[in-house]
Amino acid sequence: MSLSLENLHKSKPNLQKLQHDSFVEAGIELFVLRLDEIHPIISGNKWYKLKYNLIEAQKIGKLLTFGGAYSNHIFATAWAAHQLGLKSVGIIRGEETLPLNHTLSKAKEWGMEIHYISRTEYRNKNDEEFVNLLKAQFGECFVVSEGGANDLGVKGAEEILQHTDLSFNHVVCSVGTGAMMAGIVNSVREETSVTGYASLKGASFLNEEVARFLKGGHQNWSINLDYHFGGYAKTTDILNDFIEKFEFDFEIKLDRIYNGKMFFGLMERIRNGGFKAGNKIVAIHCGGGQN
Ligand SMILES: *Cc1c(COP(=O)(O)O)cnc(C)c1O
Repeated sequence: MSLSLENLHKSKPNLQKLQHDSFVEAGIELFVLRLDEIHPIISGNKWYKLKYNLIEAQKIGKLLTFGGAYSNHIFATAWAAHQLGLKSVGIIRGEETLPLNHTLSKAKEWGMEIHYISRTEYRNKNDEEFVNLLKAQFGECFVVSEGGANDLGVKGAEEILQHTDLSFNHVVCSVGTGAMMAGIVNSVREETSVTGYASLKGASFLNEEVARFLKGGHQNWSINLDYHFGGYAKTTDILNDFIEKFEFDFEIKLDRIYNGKMFFGLMERIRNGGFKAGNKIVAIHCGGGQN
């Protein structure tokens, strides 16, 4: 088992072209960047957002981060810290529920110290004073924002498209914290439009979240707030049926929290003539299945 960051993760994501009658009718080409395949545990965008955070954490030997009880970020961080020989603390939103779910029992198995705080307290997660109190409690550590949504996380996300030729007209991704989307917007050509699909309900604040991480003057991006299906981690029969059919048609599994909603919105836009004939679109499959 390797303990160096370079060996933790190397693979370059596959860019897969999908075939469907509706694409032929619309005259578009759709590619999927398969971040879900790059690693069985740190799958999807989590690797990119963690990379530079882990490099900083290695200087201290310990990291502390935040997440919900089902967080892909907690899962990925606990594993990466374990692989690198770093101590880790997970500050979890809400009360402990026993038996521990898969996410948290794995995190614990990988040596993460789990600490629960109330939903009210959790709102202070980005507060300097609150973070200092946590540092006093858990000792000197490098603090990674929830979901890896900090400057270093965005810097990593800027590398998501690095192996593609960037000749796309549109890039489509899902939005949780918006850190990945900010990295994507920072990395594309000016002519390329970026659309994010929010998995949270009523999340217009995400526009500011993304904007605060943007570097250049890229204006050509927007967040679609219409495909939350009831809210974060909520689903409907329509969404479930779509995910099943998508897997049948393309042999690609989608999670219900992020990718299912994004592809639902994207396929609808394609059917409704929302893209010009000749356009090349890349959708980012961000993983999300915890193994
Ligand atoms: C974390 C995650 C997202 C959201 O990424 P943000 O950078 O927080 O917006 C999207 N899809 C999947 C599968 C994820 O695990």
